[in-house]
Amino acid sequence: MSAAAQRVAAAAMHAGTSGPDPAPLDASSIRVEFPILWQSVHGKPLVYLDNAATTQKPACVLDAVDAYYRCDNANVHRAVHTLSERATVAFEQARAQVARFVGARDSSEIVFTRGATEALNLVASSYGDMVLRESDEVVLTEMEHHSNIVPWQMACARTGATLRVVPIDDRGELDIEAFGNLLGPRTRIVAVTHVSNALGTVNPVAELVAMAHAAGAKVVVDGAQALPHASVDVAALDCDFYAFSGHKVYAPMGVGALYAKRELLDAMPPWQGGGDMILSVTFEKTLYNVPPYKFEAGTPDVGGAVGLGAALAWLESLGIERVAAHENDLMAYAQQALLGVAGLRVVGTAARKAGVHSFMLEGIHPHDVGTILDHQGVAIRTGHHCAQPVMQHFGIAATARASFAVYNTREDVDRLVDGLHEVKEVFG
Ligand code: PMP
Repeated sequence: MSAAAQRVAAAAMHAGTSGPDPAPLDASSIRVEFPILWQSVHGKPLVYLDNAATTQKPACVLDAVDAYYRCDNANVHRAVHTLSERATVAFEQARAQVARFVGARDSSEIVFTRGATEALNLVASSYGDMVLRESDEVVLTEMEHHSNIVPWQMACARTGATLRVVPIDDRGELDIEAFGNLLGPRTRIVAVTHVSNALGTVNPVAELVAMAHAAGAKVVVDGAQALPHASVDVAALDCDFYAFSGHKVYAPMGVGALYAKRELLDAMPPWQGGGDMILSVTFEKTLYNVPPYKFEAGTPDVGGAVGLGAALAWLESLGIERVAAHENDLMAYAQQALLGVAGLRVVGTAARKAGVHSFMLEGIHPHDVGTILDHQGVAIRTGHHCAQPVMQHFGIAATARASFAVYNTREDVDRLVDGLHEVKEVFG
């Protein structure tokens, strides 16, 4: 049994009794669990700092998906044969794992989706169309990813409701006073990101939820950039919806989930029709299934869900608090190190940040920074990060973004900084 598998098994055995080892994480031994990181790029050992776009997958997740397809693959919920029963059990165990990881009261509050984008579209289409009327308002923030803007623009176009936008300040923090002022009797929905993918800002979600609820609004949280970095408890946050993507938490692409309070799922209409989301169909009338199946039309990505369950079990085995402590240390180390690069400006200097440092190098286009770093074997992302309103706020078209995961080390940060010095030399 691999070290990772032993840890996952031990964590499962001790679940609810003793927590994971309190000692700090050893990122370099975790890195060994990620086969993709063993390679060189342009002749240099790969340093992967594009984790906000997608994380790499540990061997135990790859093995879980492989084992599912080798041994258990069948369609779920619709057959009595053994493989189908096994696939159904694996799928529902993954749902229970997701529910436990985010602190949902019940597995039926977890709807599997393709990712955060689909989860947000589900809420905007189903809940949005159910409650929004002309003169109603949807409040979102200037730091949202396009996935948490465009579905609301589309819902407003369908229903006649209006979008209101909470501004950010020049550190990249939300203007909480402005948020309070925007809330009113017409606010039906507040849609806010937990962590900004472009700036790294961690928003005070529990406080925002309490304010929104006091105004009678429901809150949709985009958790795509939060779940990999810190413990999330939807019950403690008291948010109404929480969306995330598997591929940003060490799981495969193409799977994610929406948490929603059960009473909301009960009240909401389905948003896609097809197999599995029904109890019975005649040409006269269709009876819909109960949540979460009401929102899962068609064959789901069972293998992806199995991988997601394995990834969350793996994170639990590390201890999400230890993951957060390691990454906070790395973020602080990187912030100091980046300050040492002359002409470098960090974009987004909020007091609380997670996972992401966006920056500009004076006089050098971010794409050139990214290209030269790639030749050093260092992978970062450059561009608008699907958050063009953030770029507009700072009067820029793009940033370079280094984003961190649990397998990154201080040596990775040193390689980034060395690479940036190289970029500066190339541009004289
Ligand atoms: N929200 C945020 C904050 C994100 O960073 C992303 C991915 N960059 C998304 C939503 C969309 O995630 P996906 O493309 O996996 O659906």
